[in-house]
Amino acid sequence: MLIVQKYGGTSVGSVDRIQTVARRVAKTARDHSVVVVVSAMGKTTDGLVKMAEEISGNPSRREMDMLLSTGEQVTIALMSMALQELGQPALSMTGAQVGIVTEAEHTRARILHIQTERMERHLNEGKVIVVAGFQGISDREQLEITTLGRGGSDTSAVALAAALGADQCEIYTDVPGILTTDPRIVPKAKLMDEITCDEMLELASLGAKVLHPRAVEIARNYGIPLVVRSSWTDDPGTRVTSPKPEPRPLEGLELVRPVDGVEFDADQAAVSMLRIPDRPGIAARLFGGIALQKLNVDLIIQSIHEANINDITFTVTQNCYNRAIAVADAILPTLGRNDDPELGEPEVRGYEAPIAKVSIVGAGMIGRPKVASQMFRTLAEAGINIQMISTSEVKVSCVIDAADCDRAVEALCGAFDVRQRSPETAEAADRSDSPPVRGVALDRNQARLAIRYVPDRPGMAATLFALLADSNISVDMIIQSQRCQQIDGILTRDIAFTVSQADAAEAQKVLEAAIATWECGELFVNPAIAKVSAVGAGMVDSPGVAARMFEALAAENINISMIATSEIKISCVVDEKDAVKALQVVHEAFGLSGDEAVIIPSPATVS
Ligand code: ASP
Ligand code: MG
Repeated sequence: MLIVQKYGGTSVGSVDRIQTVARRVAKTARDHSVVVVVSAMGKTTDGLVKMAEEISGNPSRREMDMLLSTGEQVTIALMSMALQELGQPALSMTGAQVGIVTEAEHTRARILHIQTERMERHLNEGKVIVVAGFQGISDREQLEITTLGRGGSDTSAVALAAALGADQCEIYTDVPGILTTDPRIVPKAKLMDEITCDEMLELASLGAKVLHPRAVEIARNYGIPLVVRSSWTDDPGTRVTSPKPEPRPLEGLELVRPVDGVEFDADQAAVSMLRIPDRPGIAARLFGGIALQKLNVDLIIQSIHEANINDITFTVTQNCYNRAIAVADAILPTLGRNDDPELGEPEVRGYEAPIAKVSIVGAGMIGRPKVASQMFRTLAEAGINIQMISTSEVKVSCVIDAADCDRAVEALCGAFDVRQRSPETAEAADRSDSPPVRGVALDRNQARLAIRYVPDRPGMAATLFALLADSNISVDMIIQSQRCQQIDGILTRDIAFTVSQADAAEAQKVLEAAIATWECGELFVNPAIAKVSAVGAGMVDSPGVAARMFEALAAENINISMIATSEIKISCVVDEKDAVKALQVVHEAFGLSGDEAVIIPSPATVS
């Protein structure tokens, strides 16, 4: 068996710890071929960054790479010596010596290709290869040292595992594995035995501290069995699994094919509750009723509109449509009237005419803003109007007229050079034993942007998100709701989305300039929000998950200003002030808490 093991900074933080790790490696090497990937010792990289900042407010990115890549080089040499001292033949190699070829993008390069011949030769001689994580080389002529971005050693390890065709990649760290949520906010977070790559990607804000999201993308794309576990115990940790992927080339490793499938579902109908008062508990009541009827909802989107009134729209299969409408109708009279009669009264509206959901599927969509924007552009060029949008890390879905479905699928397959795939294949097998909710994450670094009165014609979403993509702004949670409004005779819709707070000002600038050229449109920005997400591949097959989440928030009187769902995730935007409470109650609502706090083992407690 060939195993790639990666040890993080804390695990190799001192000579003592390097020796402890070397013993572990040597033990594995008795029965297996081993490639070890290491980080810089302890907080070395932070220290190097700090020194650079003392010299320059804006150091050259090339020189940053020259500087930061030194940290890992210290560790590989010491680790190799420690192994040799134990009688285990070992050889250290830098990224360049291995031939980890990357783009020429300093400080955030993606891996293009890894040469394996030299490593394989030494592995066959019974040596452990110790590779410097986080670094590569630009190409065979330039030979510029590059780094992959902070936390990138995980990515090096999984990429090496893919290139070498390793049987397993093990990420060793100072925590026992992946927890159901952030233990600093929920001390009784529980250790997971297992999680799928897609779930892990959707929990990015939770998982990122433990596992670099790009590493998860590679594991998913190449089907590498991944384990996250503690360096100091023999506990099994958390397995990060993926279904058997479609074959893909190793050339262009991190760059090719961000989209690997197009899916569609032409059997959908939508129900909207329009102009409902913005107060806690309404989503809970609606989806509680839906759950009682055992109707399986697919997409749910809720967006806030003018003067604090909301629209909630959800989709169900055609045969559930009448019952879904009946539930909404029954709830309507309990909502009361809107304070301001000018705004109109709450209303249920059904869209029985068949609609279709088309989705592009892949890993890391949010980190590649051009992908969603290309989807919207492709649909616009085919003259297809988008009625609703819902995005996530692993999927971008658009609801369109069912009559346009075949054309949309064909155009998207062409644009992304992929095949149409039936949602019932790989994923279905993957989720068969997944719980409805695996973990819960909080993201406090997002800002909410809403554009009201966007003229409703094909190409508007494409224009908007292309602008943001061109400024390299990643958009999370895009919501386009079902309601249309006439403004001066022009049919309009609202679009809302979140971006990271760091990008909010830039996004605002870019969008305001664009809106100024339209007939109508208005931008609203709110940075004081937080996003709570519940993720689980099993939620597809279990009605009532959304209701339970909304009920938990309602019970604490927490107002939800946006809702977006994908097949495996439900996200709610709440006020920043409610963030911590929201995470705690949702975690509790899904019974994820353990009996006691997870003990984080330390090297001092092991011999
Ligand atoms: N040493 C680098 C960092 O601290 C890479 C890594 O440890 O993954 O970001
Ligand atoms: Mg790390």
